[in-house]
Amino acid sequence: MIIVMKPHAKPESIQKIKSVIEAKGLGAHISDGREVTIIGVIGDKTRLQDQNLEIFEDVDKIVPVTESYKLANKKFHPEPSIIKVGNTYIGGDSLVIMSGPCAVESREQVLATAHAIKKSGAQILRGGAYKPRTSPYAFQGLEEEGLRYMKEARDETGLAVICEVTSLAAIEAAVKYVDMLQIGARNMQNFYLLKEAGKSGLPVLLKRGLSATIDEWLNASEYIIAEGNPNVVLCERGIRTFETATRNTLDISAVPVIKERSHLPIIVDPSHATGVRQYVKPLSMSAVAAGADGLMIETHPNPATALSDGPQSLTFEQFDELCNELRPLAALFGKKF
Ligand code: PEP
Ligand code: MN
Repeated sequence: MIIVMKPHAKPESIQKIKSVIEAKGLGAHISDGREVTIIGVIGDKTRLQDQNLEIFEDVDKIVPVTESYKLANKKFHPEPSIIKVGNTYIGGDSLVIMSGPCAVESREQVLATAHAIKKSGAQILRGGAYKPRTSPYAFQGLEEEGLRYMKEARDETGLAVICEVTSLAAIEAAVKYVDMLQIGARNMQNFYLLKEAGKSGLPVLLKRGLSATIDEWLNASEYIIAEGNPNVVLCERGIRTFETATRNTLDISAVPVIKERSHLPIIVDPSHATGVRQYVKPLSMSAVAAGADGLMIETHPNPATALSDGPQSLTFEQFDELCNELRPLAALFGKKF
């Protein structure tokens, strides 16, 4: 449940409610809005059965929260969250573009990509150093060596960098080199990994699982936030359907649904959603029009030789063209880019 305080409630009244909640062994999450403060109750609310909180001073109303996710819930935190990643903010009035290769392959590849995407306007460099591949025989990533190249690219360009992590060892290595951790679709419900990412102190990009409902996805984000890390960004990357013309089916409706249910920012990854280079532009456009806070787009200096996901990767020229076409569209939908 949430306790909505009256406008300009006295701090003593807010503290009083908080201590009543905590005395019952429950958590109290305070969201300080411009005028109204909301206190969210975390835990088994039946413990408050004998308390009529409605009669406490400055309480406006009590609203039940039926969803199992609380900290990710918009009812707990009505203002949209803005997440800082390096010097970039996701969820505010900017359209944030993360771009780079599927897999980090070499120092030259990463540095060339970082410079190219920066020139086109991207704010964050992506690159996988730990690659969860469908086949165990496919390229599995350069691991810590790859992370070192990402950090070098960050130091050289000022771009923030993001890498996927697939294990606790990968998290422990990545925190030394990157600005944001990525939890991939295949690990969305790896609750142990989510908790460890929550403890890392870094912002986390949580991709939607291949067959996850929006409710399951928001519950997965709750695992990270419950560890004391509110810096979560969601990424819609397509879900598995009966359709085979594209690698996955981009669920564009996830964008407005998330905006209605959660305060967390959401970005869209049209590269993994389609698996096809030609479809990246139209779906990037749709994502911006649907209200996404950003995009993740795979680029490669020479997609024909890419060790992973070449067919969906854009060349630098194609990426530059896409950014130029996105600029007026972003402005039309209230985002700076
Ligand atoms: C990736 O971003 O490189 C990736 C593997 O994506 P996903 O987890 O969405 O498949
Ligand atoms: Mn990829």
